[in-house]
Amino acid sequence: MYTDLALYIDGEWLNGAGRKGEEVVNPATGKGLATLPHASKDDLDRALDAAEKGFEVWRATTAYDRARLMRKAADLLRDRADHVARVMTQEQGKVLAEARVEVMTSADIIDWFAEEGRRSYGRIVPGRSRNVRQLVIQEPVGMVAAFTPWNFPTLTPVRKIAAALAAGCSIIIKASEETPGGCVELVKCFADAGLPKGVLNLVFGVPAEVSEHLIGDERIRKISFTGSVPVGKHLAALAARGMKRATMELGGHSPVVVFADADPEKTADTIAAFKYRNAGQVCISPTRFYVQEGVYDRFLARFTDYAKNIKLGDGLEKGTTMGPLANPRRLDAMEAIVQDCKSRGGKIVTGGKRHGNQGYFFEPTVVTDLPDDSKLMTEEPFGPIAPIVTFKTFDEVVERANSLAFGLAAYAFTSSTQTATMIGDAIQSGMVGVNSVAISTPETPFGGIKESGYGHEGGIEGLEAYTNKKFISQG
Ligand code: NAD
Repeated sequence: MYTDLALYIDGEWLNGAGRKGEEVVNPATGKGLATLPHASKDDLDRALDAAEKGFEVWRATTAYDRARLMRKAADLLRDRADHVARVMTQEQGKVLAEARVEVMTSADIIDWFAEEGRRSYGRIVPGRSRNVRQLVIQEPVGMVAAFTPWNFPTLTPVRKIAAALAAGCSIIIKASEETPGGCVELVKCFADAGLPKGVLNLVFGVPAEVSEHLIGDERIRKISFTGSVPVGKHLAALAARGMKRATMELGGHSPVVVFADADPEKTADTIAAFKYRNAGQVCISPTRFYVQEGVYDRFLARFTDYAKNIKLGDGLEKGTTMGPLANPRRLDAMEAIVQDCKSRGGKIVTGGKRHGNQGYFFEPTVVTDLPDDSKLMTEEPFGPIAPIVTFKTFDEVVERANSLAFGLAAYAFTSSTQTATMIGDAIQSGMVGVNSVAISTPETPFGGIKESGYGHEGGIEGLEAYTNKKFISQG
């Protein structure tokens, strides 16, 4: 019912024989699902050698043929969506409907990059003399090492894999050891579509050991990481030692600004649904709610209603609208946040504690009356807790929204076109949703500023991240 977990190196699926490993746990039950093999140092070296050969083969494959194969992988993923979604719900906890959307979006991302790879144009710049032709061309950056976390087991890996493959790179991906099945299933689709061996390799292990080994190899020319700010800084430093290109998709603490001219009920429905998606374990999750005096009471009442009506349970069960947290670390983090809220005068309007006596469930929680320097208002909660506070003026809320070191996503709601334009400009953030939460699509750039990282995934920027520009002056 779950899946066979294995490494994928040089076109071969490698199981646990003789390897160390770890147990993958279902967060809804706390029970083991399967044992995940860890790559040995020899396995990692084999993956590096395979990726080197794979790069030579893949860079010599035309963009047209690369696209054809990638689209086949996307179709296989769609055909297998029900199974892959079930794998993800079991290992990660998200409800089945969300898991299914994740799989279908992952297939769309493959298709989009497959097509965009065919449009990786260069340009000709007029020369200063008649006999000179000046060309700017795009080349694949080379061998890529990618590292992905546990909250989106197929979506985050696919953003890196699809962009790298579209650009003509080979890639070694270390997906999350806690939710490995989604990426195993994804890689199977590429393997079954006929991707040449060595082009895509999947490994697991002790994260710090694997990343240090791969990033330390001089053949790796590009790093892509999604995860927390501290780990991102560490990996960026390792990449800098070898002057390697890097994309860093790190944490956020997304402000939501609700102006008094917005419809408070409609806004609350939209943003609460977005808040509790994947139990709040989303880097662009709305996490700090600033509501202008005048609509605060109505917004709070409707948002709280939404939270109270969430049906917490195993994501495989019909009717469940929010699953468990993905691991016990998140439960501890939620309890520490609630404790700090209480000690800082915060009022727990609903939720605030664990739910049930098996699995890692935490109640959808709403907190009010919190000071701006409390833990919840300054540290990324990465869970189902929403602090809702008031503000008076535009300038005040902009200052408060921009006061943290994060700059990933932000949201604002208003019925005034002028305010919409002004807030879009004023917020320091890589992505801003104004009267919208649709800030993550295959076609558009996804990425943060400040300590939320650098570089983009998605959009033409996401492809450029895997290409080097070469200038050729031809006399
Ligand atoms: P963590 O900082 O220990 O790990 C974050 C991710 O990085 C995990 O997937 C982990 O396996 C990986 N990792 C850790 N050390 C690594 C290393 N040296 N090399 C390569 N990979 C490494 O935290 P956690 O408990 O797993 O998650 C908690 C925090 O991480 C959250 O509060 C959130 O801020 C952040 N996070 C962000 C995202 C995101 O989408 N940006 C996803 C998951 C977690």
